[in-house]
Amino acid sequence: MTLRISEIFYSLQGEGRLAGVPSVFIRLAGCDLRCLWCDTPYALRAEQGQALSLEQIMDQISAFDCSHIVVTGGEPLLAPELPTLLQELKNRNKHITLETSATQYRPVIADLVSISPKLAHSIPHTGPYAEFAPIHKTRRLNLEAIQHFMDHHDYQFKFVVGSRADLEEVDQILAKLRNVNRDRIMLMPQARTRQQHRTAGPLVAQLCLEKDFRYCPRLHVELWGNRRGK
Ligand code: SF4
Repeated sequence: MTLRISEIFYSLQGEGRLAGVPSVFIRLAGCDLRCLWCDTPYALRAEQGQALSLEQIMDQISAFDCSHIVVTGGEPLLAPELPTLLQELKNRNKHITLETSATQYRPVIADLVSISPKLAHSIPHTGPYAEFAPIHKTRRLNLEAIQHFMDHHDYQFKFVVGSRADLEEVDQILAKLRNVNRDRIMLMPQARTRQQHRTAGPLVAQLCLEKDFRYCPRLHVELWGNRRGK
């Protein structure tokens, strides 16, 4: 059994309620979406990743004395072998954060499911993924899948927000979900560079204050800019 791995690296978790926690990141290659502003274009297609066995992955992560593992992508839920990977991590007593767009539901072993539903501004109307726009549109939101993750896991939401107009869609999504804990809703600036992060941050912070949502900075962008493996 092998998994297509884009990269494995050690860094600080940059986003969400565990921001700042030293973590090993396992980035799976392959994604079912093509966000206009995707910040990991090198992980969009499974064949961009290296085929690694479970043993090879465990060897790599054991090089770091670290209890927190972030399984991310791409979209990790696409990998049929994901449950085996998560089980193996749990056998090693790791704290697992699974980062996903939740375009589908699968039962998973994870201590925290970090859900980043993709808003309409993610649709790639122009640019290199324009051909993919119709598919992206139909796939980007799966409220039933999101609800399943909320019902069965500790979770957080990270909404990437580019402008005030995005808030209306956030409200519409939350209104369709049951038992939403507002403490777990975070708004995150749409930013791939330090400059974009600093420009967008104050607006998103203001929106958080108005709506009583948590502000989610992108610590890794602020510390290292748009650097791969950070
Ligand atoms: S879901 Fe993530 S990896 Fe996939 S296209 Fe969007 S930003 Fe990129």
